[in-house]
Amino acid sequence: MSTLTPAKLTTANVTPVTNPATDEKLYEVTHALPPEVDAAVARAKIAFKKWSGETALKRSRVMFRFLELLNRHREELAAVITREHGKTLDDARGEVQRGIEVVEFACGMPHLLKGEFSENVGTGVDGYSFRQPLGICAGITPFNFPAMIPLWMFPLSVACGNCFILKPSEVDPGASDLIHRLFMEAGAPENVLQVVNGGKEAVDAILANPDIAAVSFVGSTPVAQYVHQTASQNGKRVQALGGAKNHMVIMPDAPMDQVVEALMGAAYGSAGERCMAISVAVPVGDETADRLIAALQERVAKIKIGPGTEAGVEMGPLVSRKHRDKVCAYIEAGEREGAKLVVDGRKAPAASEKGYFLGGCLFDNVTPQMKIYQEEIFGPVLSVARAKDYAHACKLVDDHPFGNGVAIFTRDGGIARDFAQRIQTGMVGINVPIPVPMAYHSFGGWKRSLFGDVHMHGMEGIRFNTRLKAVTARWPETMQAEFTMPVSK
Ligand code: NAD
Repeated sequence: MSTLTPAKLTTANVTPVTNPATDEKLYEVTHALPPEVDAAVARAKIAFKKWSGETALKRSRVMFRFLELLNRHREELAAVITREHGKTLDDARGEVQRGIEVVEFACGMPHLLKGEFSENVGTGVDGYSFRQPLGICAGITPFNFPAMIPLWMFPLSVACGNCFILKPSEVDPGASDLIHRLFMEAGAPENVLQVVNGGKEAVDAILANPDIAAVSFVGSTPVAQYVHQTASQNGKRVQALGGAKNHMVIMPDAPMDQVVEALMGAAYGSAGERCMAISVAVPVGDETADRLIAALQERVAKIKIGPGTEAGVEMGPLVSRKHRDKVCAYIEAGEREGAKLVVDGRKAPAASEKGYFLGGCLFDNVTPQMKIYQEEIFGPVLSVARAKDYAHACKLVDDHPFGNGVAIFTRDGGIARDFAQRIQTGMVGINVPIPVPMAYHSFGGWKRSLFGDVHMHGMEGIRFNTRLKAVTARWPETMQAEFTMPVSK
């Protein structure tokens, strides 16, 4: 049961958006009050009547123009991401690319919405089925991918014929604002996509609005669970993706140089603020573990930290001072609980600068009871949890409450295949540290990393954003009453 309760707010709330590399306030974002969210939904309801009736081809033409504009404004979008989130420009460019790929997929909507037809399901009777849009859909997104995750959600939804209300993270809403402007410039009719800013009050207004048919959420697990529970109780379709603690199992035969390269990017890229970041390395056997720690130690201590706009920087700041303090509290907890802090990022020179910088941290001898193992830290902190053998490594992964992503590094095809089949995790990488599925496949975890059944984008995204209708048709010259169950004759 979630402990979160709806907020009572009667006056507009305003919060600052800051540049995490400089601690400078960029602008203020005004949070929408519930009546404003309801007004946006009312406008979307009107827009839906026309938009849902357009041909899929016409909707996909808007997507093609939108794709072109996104491509043209890639750099501008990446710069907005870096300015408000802090990740390096190269990383931001990668995020934009992954978002664009979902738009490319959405361009194929006329094909993706094709139904099924069966001739002569009975004598003179045909059966066919097709998918129709749901109506008004809403998306609630986290701070860590301010462009990619909105792009995971609304392009498919609107290309399916829905109208969409996007509620981006109030921490870095600038990317959603730019994306919305580009979508309008692409020729999207008014109110097919609307952005409402805010935090919990805006989310609660979305969850309570009876005209919203479906809610897509990505964020932390407690909020994902709350959104899933509340939206479901209110009769909505909901997919709520939550937090993670992704493990990488390192078999004794894995090439250590590759493992170290993979781990550096997967654990410390984007300062560990990725839901698919590797936060636990699980070397199999003490010999493998010792080699891993020896190889990582030097690399982690030398990560180049600085503003994301600076060339050669490998890791930018954390998103906020509050978040850096939270990550530091985890580091203290790890030390208190007896894990061995091999590299202490708090001592990195950049950590004393004005921005919210923290160096890479490496813990050895982390055990499952520890807080730093159980909970998602969402920072540049890698825990090494030693496993005595392969079965022990799998048990560690399977016993963990989260199940978003997992990776195994090995040269043994048999082990890799066994791992992919047995492991209780939604996305698996074999010698791939961050196995984020491409746009035409679907993204989603298991266990406490996903509430709901349907993953995001790919064919799961089409199913989530539409409902199936089946038609059975006959054109009789005469009709006789049938009192028995109709069967094929
Ligand atoms: P968050 O849960 O704090 O916020 C996510 C969204 O929910 C934001 O739009 C926010 O305004 C809203 N929100 C926050 N508190 C709320 C409340 N009490 N009630 C209603 N709405 C609320 O998450 P975050 O800090 O922005 O993002 C980081 C988290 O997102 C991490 O846990 C990360 O693992 C997760 N994440 C998961 C995935 C995935 O695909 N599984 C992807 C990216 C991020």
